Amino acid sequence: MTALPNRAAFEKTVREAIDGLRGSGGARFALCFVDLDGFKLVNDSVGHHVGDALLVAVSWILRAALPPETMIARMGGDEFAIVLREAVMSYRVQAQRIVESLGTRFHYEAYDLSVRASVGVVELGELMLTYEDALRDADAAMYQAKKLGGGRFVIFDATMRARAKRRRELTNDLSESVARGQIGVAYQPIFDLNTQQVLGFEALARWEHPREGRIGPDEFIPIAESTGTIEALGRSVLAAACEQLARWRDTFELAESWTMNVNVAARQILNGSIVEDTRAILARSGLPAGRLTLEITESVLLDNVRVANETLLALRELGVRICIDDFGTGFSSLQYLQRFPIDGIKVDRSFVSGSGEGIASEPIVEMLITLSNVLELEVVVEGIETHTQMDRLQRLGCAMGQGFLLGKPMSPDEAIGLIQAGSGRSAVASSM
Ligand code: C2E
Ligand code: CA
Ligand code: CA
Repeated sequence: MTALPNRAAFEKTVREAIDGLRGSGGARFALCFVDLDGFKLVNDSVGHHVGDALLVAVSWILRAALPPETMIARMGGDEFAIVLREAVMSYRVQAQRIVESLGTRFHYEAYDLSVRASVGVVELGELMLTYEDALRDADAAMYQAKKLGGGRFVIFDATMRARAKRRRELTNDLSESVARGQIGVAYQPIFDLNTQQVLGFEALARWEHPREGRIGPDEFIPIAESTGTIEALGRSVLAAACEQLARWRDTFELAESWTMNVNVAARQILNGSIVEDTRAILARSGLPAGRLTLEITESVLLDNVRVANETLLALRELGVRICIDDFGTGFSSLQYLQRFPIDGIKVDRSFVSGSGEGIASEPIVEMLITLSNVLELEVVVEGIETHTQMDRLQRLGCAMGQGFLLGKPMSPDEAIGLIQAGSGRSAVASSM
């Protein structure tokens, strides 16, 4: 389709070049891996024919960006491998050209797609790597580029080898743990800052690794996202959270007004699987749809406006509420707030905590609260850690909040303990 050499042809060329290095000191070269950021989402959401057209365009762009005679191969999927020679341009310059030339928008049929590339480079020289080692190292560097947010290149260094090994192990272990239903859920209370009553909880995934103990979501969620495990993981958190709230509602009158917030990953929105999952789980648990709030990040809306909008409308149809998580940290466009069916925002904790007692970026927090009021959106401020922050937020007219000061993520039993101790009021408030 792209008319590029395939994996086998690439392997043959590279093996010969490595042999050349061993013998009479042939010219040094580097292997370069190119992986498109978010390509699977394009394929899943707008269809394979668009994905195919995109790959063809990418092959032309690579060709144009690099010196003639450069070997560019398609390794499968959205992965390209390139043999870089340092004749006219250094490896760095060539890698930079790849990143820049692919960082553009594609218009195809009715679609407006943005792609970027993560690029990993490993130089083969005195080290005398084998083909397999070189491939693995280029892949580790490429992964590092991805982890740093994509749209960039990374040159391999030896520390990446250990990290890549750990990631491979965690990847396997995680999909096993998810399949066995071993992902736990912690619940962090969300409070009404005026009355100090619990309004609901946010469900947060927890992984107790069989050998390594607890591993944080900041480490395992990105792994789950890059391998697709996130769909099964997200489904299991959603099911556990809905069942938990349904059970609480059966036991405590207080719980009837509570809501459950559940995080949803980009992939679940863009391939639409969240709609059917939510419908089935609500039906099974008996939880009224209006008691469930799904938290999505704003980057999802940017990735594919049309598909995101369709999914959100379908969710709205089910009766669930939607809020934008980590608001203000991405490419926020205020248009989103009017354009998409959204019920509220969560102000990211980086605006609140992290720099002493007071609110880290008070003008921004104040502006977001005002904005939400004007647009009649709910606003929850995250990351409340100190009494000073709490006081200021109350004075700014912030209605809802979440943070370590009020309550950390906890087990269902601890949550019940909290409720029974203060009949739903925060311990902070009763001591004030
Ligand atoms: P998030 O959605 O922004 O979740 C809030 C995070 O802030 C949680 O971290 C919570 O423990 C932490 N937090 C709450 N209050 C405070 C505070 O006062 N101070 C500080 N410093 N931190 C506070 P956690 O549990 O480590 O989760 C990290 C991220 O992992 C979440 O960020 C969310 O993006 C992701 N995540 C967790 N569970 C799931 C899940 O089931 N699905 C998906 N897709 N993502 C999840
Ligand atoms: Ca969240
Ligand atoms: Ca957040």
